[in-house]
Amino acid sequence: MQELTHYINGAHVKGTSGRFADVFNPATGEVQAKLPLASAAEMDIAVQAAAAAQPAWAAVNPQRRARVMMAFVGLLNKNMDKLAEALSREHGKTLPDAAGDVQRGLEVVEYCIGAPELLKGDFTDSAGPGIDMYSMKQALGVCAGITPFNFPAMIPMWMFAPAIACGNAFILKPSERDPSVPLMLAELMEEAGLPKGILQVVNGDKEAVDAIIDHDVIQSIGFVGSTPIAEYIYGRGCANGKRVQCFGGAKNHMIIMPDADLDQAADALIGAGYGAAGERCMAISVAVPVGEETANKLIEKLIPRIDALKVGPYTAGNDVDYGPVVTAAAKANILKLVQAGVDQGADLVVDGRDFSLQGYEDGFFVGPHLFDHVTTDMDIYTKEIFGPVLSVVRAKTYEDAITMAMDHEYGNGTAIYTRDGDTARDFANRINIGMVGINVPIPVPLAYHTFGGWKKSAFGDLNQHGPDAFKFYTRTKTITSRWPSGIRQGGEFNFKPMD
Ligand code: NAD
Repeated sequence: MQELTHYINGAHVKGTSGRFADVFNPATGEVQAKLPLASAAEMDIAVQAAAAAQPAWAAVNPQRRARVMMAFVGLLNKNMDKLAEALSREHGKTLPDAAGDVQRGLEVVEYCIGAPELLKGDFTDSAGPGIDMYSMKQALGVCAGITPFNFPAMIPMWMFAPAIACGNAFILKPSERDPSVPLMLAELMEEAGLPKGILQVVNGDKEAVDAIIDHDVIQSIGFVGSTPIAEYIYGRGCANGKRVQCFGGAKNHMIIMPDADLDQAADALIGAGYGAAGERCMAISVAVPVGEETANKLIEKLIPRIDALKVGPYTAGNDVDYGPVVTAAAKANILKLVQAGVDQGADLVVDGRDFSLQGYEDGFFVGPHLFDHVTTDMDIYTKEIFGPVLSVVRAKTYEDAITMAMDHEYGNGTAIYTRDGDTARDFANRINIGMVGINVPIPVPLAYHTFGGWKKSAFGDLNQHGPDAFKFYTRTKTITSRWPSGIRQGGEFNFKPMD
C-alpha cells in the first residue's frame, strides 16, 4: 500500500502522528493509498520553515516572482496528462473534466504573472509642502489554505498562486480524499524556481485545520468547502485576529422562462446538473420552469437526455459523461436524500437508485435522478445534495421563481434561460446571488474576474482570484514623508488638515 507524505521545506516528509486516512479509487472502491494526518507539532514545523523562508521571498522583486509563475504555467502544460490522470484516479471525474480542473487553476497562475502591475502602489507628490505620501502593498507573511475534494487542482491554485506572487509563504491543507495532485503542484512550483519553504503541503483533518486556525504566525486563512465548516473556520479564525475568507455550499437554481429555447435549456441542465456527478459548487441542482406548459415540455425533453447519460470510470474513454462520487459515505448521503425526497412526496421521474456497473460493483457510482413537483419545504430542496440529482420546482410566475431563489439560504450561482432582455436584466439586477448566468448554465467567472457567492455560500469581504486576491494577500501601508530642508521647528500638537 502506497504511503503518501507531506511536502515540507522542499522535501517529501513521512507523517509522524501515527494517524492515517484511506485514499480511495472511487471507481473501484479500493483503498489505493494511506495519507498521513498531521498533528499540531507537524504543522508547526511547516509554519516555522515558511516563516524562515518568507522574508527573502518577499524581497525578491515582483517581476522575478512572476517569472516563477511563468515557468510553472509551462510545467503545468507539460504535465497536464499526468496531473489529470492522478486527479481522476482519486476524485473519479472524467479525464477531460480533470484536465479542465487543472486548466482553470492554470489560468489563475497566468493572471498572477501580472503581479508587478497588480502590486504597484499609489503615490501623491506634494501632498503638503515638501511632503509626499505613498501606499504600498506588502505581503502578509505566512498564509494558509484549506481546500475541498471537488477541485483538487483549481482551488489550491486559486489560493497559493496569488498568495505567493504577492510575496507570501503558503501552507496548503488539501482535502484528505485527493491529496496527490496538490503534492505534485508543490513539486512543480519548486521545479519552476520557487525557493523551499514557500509552498508546503501539510495533509490532515480537523486537527491540522485547528492547528492552522490557532497558530500565531499564520496571518490569513482561505477556506473552500461545506458551509458548516466555513462558518466554524471563519468565526474562530476571525476571533484569533486573522484575515479569513471562507466559501461554502450551494443550491443553484436555473429559471426557465416560457420564451426560452427549451432544447438549449435542457442540454444546459444535463451538463450543469449531472456533470462531475453533481459534485460542483456551481452545479445546477434546482430547475425552476415558469408555467405548467414550460414545466411539462422541459420534463419531456430532460428524460431522454438523462436516459442517454453514460456513467463510468475515467478509464473507459472520453465519451463517459460522469464518473463515481468521491466516497461510499458521499454515495450513502445522496441516496438517503433521494429517499427523503420520495418519502416527502416528490415525484421521482428518473430513478437511479439501482444503478450498477458491471465490473465496478464496489465503485461509488450513483445513477442520475430527476425529481418533479418538488416543494421548497422538502429536504431535497433545502439541503445541498452534491450528487447527480436534479429537482424541478414548478413556479407559476417569474416573480415566484425569483423570490424562491432569493429566499434560499445559499447564494453561490444561478442562471436564467430566456429570450427577453428586459427579464434577464431585471433578474441580474435584483437577484441576491454572487454569480449569475444569462443563458449560461455554469457562470464561473474567469481568472481576471473574481469568484464568490453571497449569503451562506461565502463568509468574508473579498472574493477568490482576480483583483480581490491581490487585496486579500497584501496589507496596505501608507507612508507620509518629508525631508527637512532647513532649520527644524518645534513640535506640532494639533491634528490639522494639510497646508
Ligand atoms: P468539507 O467541508 O467536508 O471539507 C473541506 C475541507 O475542510 C477539507 O480540507 C477537510 O479536511 C476540512 N474539514 C472537514 N471537516 C472539518 C472539520 N470538522 N473541522 C475542520 N476542517 C474540516 O467539503 P468537501 O466535502 O471536501 O467539499 C464539498 C463542499 O465544498 C460542498 O459543500 C461544496 O459546495 C463546497 N464547495 C464550495 C465552493 C465555493 O467556491 N463556494 C467550491 C467548491 C466546493
